[in-house]
Amino acid sequence: MHIEVSNLNKHFGDFHAVRDVSFTIEKGRLIGLLGPSGGGKTSILRMLAGLESPTSGDIVFHGKKVNELPPQERGIGFVFQNYALFKHMTVYDNIAFGLKVKKQSKDQIRERVMSLVELTGLKGFEHRYPHQLSGGQRQRVAFARALAPEPQLLLLDEPFAAIDAKIRHELRTWLKDMIERLGITSIFVTHDQDEAIEVADEIMIINKGRLEQKGSPWDIYKNPQTQFVASFIGESTIVEDVSKLKGFEDASVWPGTKALIRPEYIEVGKRSEFRIASATEPGRVKHIHFRGSEWMVEVTVGDTTLITYRSLEKEVLQPGDEVSVLVHRAYLFNDNDSWIMENK
Ligand code: ATP
Repeated sequence: MHIEVSNLNKHFGDFHAVRDVSFTIEKGRLIGLLGPSGGGKTSILRMLAGLESPTSGDIVFHGKKVNELPPQERGIGFVFQNYALFKHMTVYDNIAFGLKVKKQSKDQIRERVMSLVELTGLKGFEHRYPHQLSGGQRQRVAFARALAPEPQLLLLDEPFAAIDAKIRHELRTWLKDMIERLGITSIFVTHDQDEAIEVADEIMIINKGRLEQKGSPWDIYKNPQTQFVASFIGESTIVEDVSKLKGFEDASVWPGTKALIRPEYIEVGKRSEFRIASATEPGRVKHIHFRGSEWMVEVTVGDTTLITYRSLEKEVLQPGDEVSVLVHRAYLFNDNDSWIMENK
């Protein structure tokens, strides 16, 4: 399904929950709506579903305005975080539910349910009840049930939130594969950036009711357009006055500009480790944390604390060590603009 949303707004009484949100989604894409709690993600999803009506703005599916269309006529499937399976029904009956509502014949229903059981890896579980399944299996039933009536758009609200961390990763990969194979346009809500980065073709960052940025995970990571996006995706340190850092003195011509620096753009080590030691500036190790595959180092430079990583291959640093610090790149933001500045 091709989706076009323009100037979507939602007020709940005095509260402006969704503010002038516009976007287009191409058919077959898997989109992650990402942002902090209360930002408006679920409200946007519910308006797409027809469970909530917009205060203003248009929702267009395949060139047709659907603002007034009830949910059951929009060709959508739903998956919620708490599975919302019918507890008193078997896996088979749960999946068949939407087909019975559509009054399909018994044979048609059987064929569709069994193909979905196969597709979702639930063969042999058809006669179990939800309480006899694991969390991951229940979520697959919810997925199969949503797909049964052949929706053109799949909406998923925090689909992995109730799944324990160990199998969440497995289930995410599974879901991404499945959606790709089926080519069905899908939108999922999450507040977990790793999940959005791992699963989505495109991410929409929603904050305080606004769409801050839309793009591929890579693009959003590399080219954040607002300070909020830069600090929400990936790790970073905010530096109030970047012109104090060596190589960034030119930034003093933009007073009030803040900088955000990602760990991978900072090098820290003994002075002897640097090829051009004069390009570095003195710092002191504040904390060091072992992260399994590397060290995370917090280092102070003047009154700024920066966070970076250090390979396990290198000599271990200790808190209090005097070190040299080299910052390669910073994201700069002021009220009107954002840009990237390289160390000169
Ligand atoms: P979460 O991740 O916590 O689910 P969200 O980004 O999905 O957050 P929404 O659920 O869309 O955010 O809520 C956005 C804002 O609108 C919140 O401040 C919420 O309290 C408010 N809100 C949502 N639904 C209603 C409602 N029916 N009546 C009044 N306020 C509402």
